[in-house]
Amino acid sequence: MNKKQVTLKTIEEIEVSNDYLDFHSRYYSYSKIDSLPNTKLVSYTNSVSKLLNMQIDEDNDEKLVKLLNGELLLKNSKPYSMVYAGHQFGHFVPQLGDGRAINLGCINGWHLQLKGAGLTKYSRQGDGKAVLRSSIREYLMSEAMYGLNIPTTRALAIITSDEPVYREKVETASIVLRVSKSWVRFGTFEYFYQSQDKQSLMELADFVIAENFSHLKDVEDKYEKLYFEIVDKTAYLVAMWQAYGFMHGVMNTDNMSVAGFTIDYGPYAFMDNFDVNNICNHTDYEGRYSYANQPRVAQWNLDSLATCFSALCDEKKLVEYLDSFLHMQDNEYLKIMQKKLGLSHELSSDSNRELVTLLIGTLNTVNIDYTLFFNHLSHFEYEKVIDLCMFKKPMEEWIESYQKALENESLPKDEISSQMQQVNPKYVLKNYMIQEAIDKAENDDFTLVNDLLKIAQNPYVVHKGYERYMYSTPQEFCNVQLSCSS
Ligand code: AMP
Ligand code: MG
Repeated sequence: MNKKQVTLKTIEEIEVSNDYLDFHSRYYSYSKIDSLPNTKLVSYTNSVSKLLNMQIDEDNDEKLVKLLNGELLLKNSKPYSMVYAGHQFGHFVPQLGDGRAINLGCINGWHLQLKGAGLTKYSRQGDGKAVLRSSIREYLMSEAMYGLNIPTTRALAIITSDEPVYREKVETASIVLRVSKSWVRFGTFEYFYQSQDKQSLMELADFVIAENFSHLKDVEDKYEKLYFEIVDKTAYLVAMWQAYGFMHGVMNTDNMSVAGFTIDYGPYAFMDNFDVNNICNHTDYEGRYSYANQPRVAQWNLDSLATCFSALCDEKKLVEYLDSFLHMQDNEYLKIMQKKLGLSHELSSDSNRELVTLLIGTLNTVNIDYTLFFNHLSHFEYEKVIDLCMFKKPMEEWIESYQKALENESLPKDEISSQMQQVNPKYVLKNYMIQEAIDKAENDDFTLVNDLLKIAQNPYVVHKGYERYMYSTPQEFCNVQLSCSS
């Protein structure tokens, strides 16, 4: 086979581009990276360094640390932060922005960004810092989502320091280098829209098209089509979240990517025991961002985005398209769930939909670990499933219907089982697992962060020594809510 030869470059050799700086200067500001004292590398990801053609010397990671700490600037790098607006818990905030994120430039379409690198023009009351705890959470979950094929930003590396940072208690400052094919948020459009500067709004849409939707470049009604595709991508993203039991926790419009990625990892959670009304964010008193509400909130956010696009195209058409969002999202969800259940979607979609609806009701009643349920089901281990249920009868009944549905499948059982095992992970990174890694890291032991990274990157196989993470979440850690503080 003729493999394309890629030349890796050292950190000093890498040159970045900065197209975002072509916008009017009211849409960004230059930032100075605030280096941390006594830094240490916690972890880095080889697969992300490859995306950047970046050569990292395993025995000498000093330069990588310097890159994250702003002591070594990439060629042509002009560190800057982006302004955006956003609806936070439904209330419009006219100016937010990268309050602690500093962009370093772009390599191969990947925008590099330091999070926790100090005050920027948009820090408001914040200190511009990120604590080790929240940085580990962002770092690990970016890679875990990627491992599950869920669209996401990525993370190259994480450093820590001994600089104190004051949250509910004193913690230490840390920086993550995260990368994304786009950092443009719904809230970025909201900021440009409120500036009443149609030309810039158009340029922003063109920028997004060039970077993430290049097939639309010369298409008629390209802005309308761009909006439609953002709706499609969001429908797919939220369908994946629902199917894998992921809750974002803070689905404000400033945390929604126009490229359809999961961005800004805060008080997120993977479902432990299934509970359709689960709220993972401790400060979300009304459950606006509960598991069950995620599709509707995504639609609400897309509606805010439609207002911005109304300056560029016919709003009626946008709203008409948005009206189909919940239906579209549900169809995507059904497709993924059918795969997780080993049912081919050509066959009798209506009865499959019924089976999935029945399953959700059953899971919600019987108190069972969501991931482990699918894990056992992939091996048709019905007894194990029933054993796990606090209430057995509803699950026994569902399994009966499921077995009937399987009879209509033409593939042999072992083939169905092996296909199911490819979409039902043995592991998801649950909050209690990440917390164990954080507790160790806060005592300078980074082994569990690095081991969880390996599990995150390859969640479909058993990891020796970590079998316990495949079982149900220990009761005391089940569905614990997290605060926004980070
Ligand atoms: P989030 O809820 O993390 O998406 O953050 C909402 C807004 O607050 C964003 O504009 C962040 O940049 C900003 N922010 C969060 N934490 C800090 C901090 N420690 N310092 C400065 N800005 C922050
Ligand atoms: Mg945010």
